[in-house]
Amino acid sequence: MAFPITRLRRLRRTDALRSVVRETRLTPESFVYPMFVCPGEGIRKEIRSMPGVFNLSVDQAVKEAGETYALGIPSVILFGLPEKKDEAAAGAWAEDGIVQRATRAIKGEVPNLIVMGDVCLCEYMSHGHCGVVRASAQSLGAAAAAPPLTTEYEIVNDASLELLARTAVSLARAGVDIIAPSDMMDGRVAAIRKALDAAGMINTPILSYAAKFASGYYGPFREAADSAPQFGDRRSYQMDPANLREAMREIELDIEEGADMIMVKPALPYLDVIAAARERFDLPLAAYQVSGEYAMIEAAARNQWIDRDRVMIESLLCIRRAGAGIILTYYAKEAAKLLD
Ligand SMILES: [Zn+2]
Repeated sequence: MAFPITRLRRLRRTDALRSVVRETRLTPESFVYPMFVCPGEGIRKEIRSMPGVFNLSVDQAVKEAGETYALGIPSVILFGLPEKKDEAAAGAWAEDGIVQRATRAIKGEVPNLIVMGDVCLCEYMSHGHCGVVRASAQSLGAAAAAPPLTTEYEIVNDASLELLARTAVSLARAGVDIIAPSDMMDGRVAAIRKALDAAGMINTPILSYAAKFASGYYGPFREAADSAPQFGDRRSYQMDPANLREAMREIELDIEEGADMIMVKPALPYLDVIAAARERFDLPLAAYQVSGEYAMIEAAARNQWIDRDRVMIESLLCIRRAGAGIILTYYAKEAAKLLD
């Protein structure tokens, strides 16, 4: 039955009608608010490339966590800036590590807020890579006069697993509710599950950054978490942005290894990956609206080239529509206020 019998505009006439037929709804319950915790006291330092996002000392993070919860947002995810970095990422798994301290403080003040702990080594390694770095055999064997090789170092997979597992156990002991590994080493979910179980934490779920792409959209985060690699890039462990089928394999493997929830990162440029994952897998699915996505909206809005609030809500709604039930976003608090 086509025009003039069918007129789709009939249901678009008023706000009330549009609301009745709306297929996707955005609510603060689906948001996770990322926070960057740093040493010191009373510190609230704005990140240059992410206006409105701050490095927070533990006391300020507790305050922010309380505000987040009061806005109806059920969870935060913590990233840490340690006092010092080394070659063993000691700050990631130390009992008094920055995220461990922040977690204890937040859980003490806002016990019902779900604290997710990002598990990675890059913020704690002096070289800024997500795993253990070893000079490759190729470069060790090369003559001094030889031209520079493309691969002069290697991110060692299996040796990194032990540190990641140790970090996960340490975070769970500090009170982290959900362990979220973001490193992209092969086998990390199984290694973390095994270590958590051995430590008696059989009820701590794992949200794996299952399909994490080597993305230019992470730029501002590296300033926020002070985690830029000192040499090379992350393309030998994070995924090629060109690969959708490989993303499905990554997710499938993480599920086999024991992931309870899965994530796609970044979000907006990867809506097809989110939709494909939603179609194929039945686990809770998260997507991370990353720093570059946030920074682009902020920059354009500051130039008055776009309507900030409208684009913010639309971007989040579209991530939801693509199939993500959980959205990690720096806009969590702002969007929750607008949706109220
Ligand atoms: Zn990392």
